[in-house]
Amino acid sequence: MSKQPFSLLALDPAQQKNLIDLGYTEMTPVQAEALPLALEGRDLIAQAKTGSGKTAAFAIPALHKLNQRNFGAQTLVLCPTRELATQVGAEFRRLARYKDNIKVVVLCGGTSIGPQIGSLEHGAHIVVGTPGRIKDHLRKETLSLASIDTLVLDEADRMLEMGFIDDIENIIEHTPSSRQTLLFSATYPTNIKSLSQRFQNNPAEVVVESIHSDAQITQDFYICSSRDAKNDGLITLLSHYQPETAVVFCNTKQMTQDLCQHLRKHNISAAAINGDLEQRDRDQVLVRFKQKSCRILIATDVAARGLDISDLPVVINFDLPRDPEIYVHRIGRTGRAGKEGKAISIFTAKDRFKVDVIGEYLDRRIDFEAIDTLPQDLKPLPSPDYITLCIAGGRRQKVRPGDILGALTGNDGIDGKTVGKIDVLDFAAYVAIERAHANQALSCLINGKIKGKKFKVRKL
Ligand code: ADP
Ligand code: MG
Repeated sequence: MSKQPFSLLALDPAQQKNLIDLGYTEMTPVQAEALPLALEGRDLIAQAKTGSGKTAAFAIPALHKLNQRNFGAQTLVLCPTRELATQVGAEFRRLARYKDNIKVVVLCGGTSIGPQIGSLEHGAHIVVGTPGRIKDHLRKETLSLASIDTLVLDEADRMLEMGFIDDIENIIEHTPSSRQTLLFSATYPTNIKSLSQRFQNNPAEVVVESIHSDAQITQDFYICSSRDAKNDGLITLLSHYQPETAVVFCNTKQMTQDLCQHLRKHNISAAAINGDLEQRDRDQVLVRFKQKSCRILIATDVAARGLDISDLPVVINFDLPRDPEIYVHRIGRTGRAGKEGKAISIFTAKDRFKVDVIGEYLDRRIDFEAIDTLPQDLKPLPSPDYITLCIAGGRRQKVRPGDILGALTGNDGIDGKTVGKIDVLDFAAYVAIERAHANQALSCLINGKIKGKKFKVRKL
């Protein structure tokens, strides 16, 4: 398809400039199809894989028609998980930079409801949240949906999978029927069709690139002699492929922990993420992974659900799933946004049937090799490039990325070039520093002040 710049759309010139500043030079395929329809006011049902830029496909039209002077919530986005809602909120804030004083509020469970009520009292133009928590606010009457004119159901299939259907219906009933409804879903099962039929008005359908036709993910399979041999097999794979980062999927929580210990014993920086982790630990693990201060993230499918990690170069199936759809879902986390991705799977003879099931599902022949055919005298995986420092103050303490950068690079500070990603969450902030400069950065922050205040700082 030919290149489609955003200038084809009748957007506010200030938004055109903002998009260029964000590095969005052309529309992604789902944006090119969805945006003209959504800007016309049509209801939409859009199907596109993860990482295809769906957020902007609904955020741009919602912002386009938003009236800042109206303080009632005008856009409501429902997302399946807290992580996704947080990401959608962040993307909305970036895309809203061209208008002054747009308030975006993210409402999810797992954090106390009090502060959320406080921010709603100040008026919110855009509300993003998970169905459970939005419903709580409706029940408490701390949120009104009477002036919603854009309703977005993001990752609708996953919300239904997670059993949110009743909550969603209840929430939609609180919104005006004159609203525009945009439904996004990676798959299109019958329950999504019926949701659409009940709540959408003559929706336009947009379908782009399914994973089956996606040649950007190479899939390698290796057979191991035994269950135990898989542990060392993974070390060999990591040394061979040398991924900058990778997500390793296991079928059980216990396995994520065991494997994490095994990798650490081999001096590989790894962290496990599973449903048992407290929200705060989950956030920390994710931030470290995204900041490249931890190379390998070991996850179960449940824990990985809702983690929107883009730019993943490699996905590894340490355990193959029984269900080929889960396999496709896992490997869909790599090869995004036109980049090449790699999916590597290891299995034992006992699990050979799973490879066959995947081959049938993908309708292709799967070749595999013995893991022992890989060279054994390989370079170990190096330490990560960055170290993450955790600052005990976040958005609630009015800490902003610029303040942290200022504190780091001020008099006698470190070179700004050695500072990586900065993530400011509600009550904590995280900053990635190049390994060699981490100690100096730490003492800078410990001895100095951020916004005139002292905060506790530690290495993660
Ligand atoms: P999805 O919801 O489809 O999984 P996202 O909306 O999260 O995808 O977008 C994935 C990534 O692509 C994000 O980092 C986003 O900022 C980026 N992105 C979105 N649209 C564009 C664009 N037109 N050009 C460049 N990057 C984009
Ligand atoms: Mg998304």
